[in-house]
Amino acid sequence: MILVAEPILGPQEQAAVADVLRSGWITQGPAVREFEQTFAQRHGAADAVAVNSCTAALHLALAALDIGPGDEVIAPSLTFVATVNAILYTGACPVLVDIEALDVPLISIALVEAAITPRTRAIVMMHFGGHLADPDPWRALAKQFGLWLIEDTAHAIGVPGVGHYGEAAAFSFYGNKNMTTAEGGMVLMRDPVRLERVRRMRGHGITSSAHDRLIARSAHYDVTELGFNYRMDDLRAAIGLVQLGQLNEFNCIRTTLVAGYLERLERLRNSHHDLIVPQSRSGNSAHHIMPILVPALADRDTVAAKMQAAGIQTTIHYPPVHTLTYHRTRLPGLSLPLSEEFHHRVLTLPLHPRMSEQDLDHVVAALEEAI
Ligand SMILES: *Cc1c(COP(=O)(O)O)cnc(C)c1O
Repeated sequence: MILVAEPILGPQEQAAVADVLRSGWITQGPAVREFEQTFAQRHGAADAVAVNSCTAALHLALAALDIGPGDEVIAPSLTFVATVNAILYTGACPVLVDIEALDVPLISIALVEAAITPRTRAIVMMHFGGHLADPDPWRALAKQFGLWLIEDTAHAIGVPGVGHYGEAAAFSFYGNKNMTTAEGGMVLMRDPVRLERVRRMRGHGITSSAHDRLIARSAHYDVTELGFNYRMDDLRAAIGLVQLGQLNEFNCIRTTLVAGYLERLERLRNSHHDLIVPQSRSGNSAHHIMPILVPALADRDTVAAKMQAAGIQTTIHYPPVHTLTYHRTRLPGLSLPLSEEFHHRVLTLPLHPRMSEQDLDHVVAALEEAI
């Protein structure tokens, strides 16, 4: 079976985990701190805060910007449900907006501007597929209306410029992302005071960590505001440090594989003109996933079933959040035609650094046959 995504883990990760086990300190400690500093450096930031998921990272970023009940936060509907759930956790109201086009499945800046009200406090952007939008118009819009710009960077780890669009960015190290710690996330914030607030809120709002208290030989701490248990542990951070060292190579292989896909799919488009291959307009991408839209007259689920029978896993990114049962009750009557058509036709093909050129031939041949 050719899988949609596969984590690349080996002896280096095993040794790093074994070192942490032998050290006797397995929860948040020195490896987490080293991971934060190395990650920040790799993304051109002064510092970072590691947490146990991107969902937690998004929640903390919103909370540290004092977003809460009565506020509106604009976000895409064509995203993983976590983007929207993090807004709901704060008590704010998510305002979901359609994508730019079927071949540019990023939140539409024109529709975002039209959705701004006096209650709007922030915009969450998501770099769908790893494709980055031009940051300048987004910064200008946020500045013009006095809004916080927040990035859900789960798809775009390691790309130059990512994490610096606005005030905050939330990364994911879930098992299917471009680098992994199994579960995990990271927060970047422009304002160092707010980043320290995120650091406290990650551990119940406590003013020192257990490891700090061990070093200081003091059992005293205080809690200055309501926080959460969103900590990362040293076992995961040790894996993250090894993965971070390989991220460039992983992302380079992804870029080469996508170029191979584009060449083969272009040939397929000669006979299927309305097969759509979303691409990065800015040319800047982490190539996290390889979604295509099947021709309008093809039945996507049948295509997926035929590919499954040919030994190729595919998946769907994403059911738009406004169509999910729970979220529909919170956002009744919302219709976002482009996100809905995208969902109806999208098929995400396998893309991970263990794939070969032969795998690409096999996937595209099976796709052609299935269509
Ligand atoms: C994976 C993902 C998340 C959630 O990441 P977790 O680390 O699992 O919380 C959020 N947003 C997007 C776009 C994702 O792909």
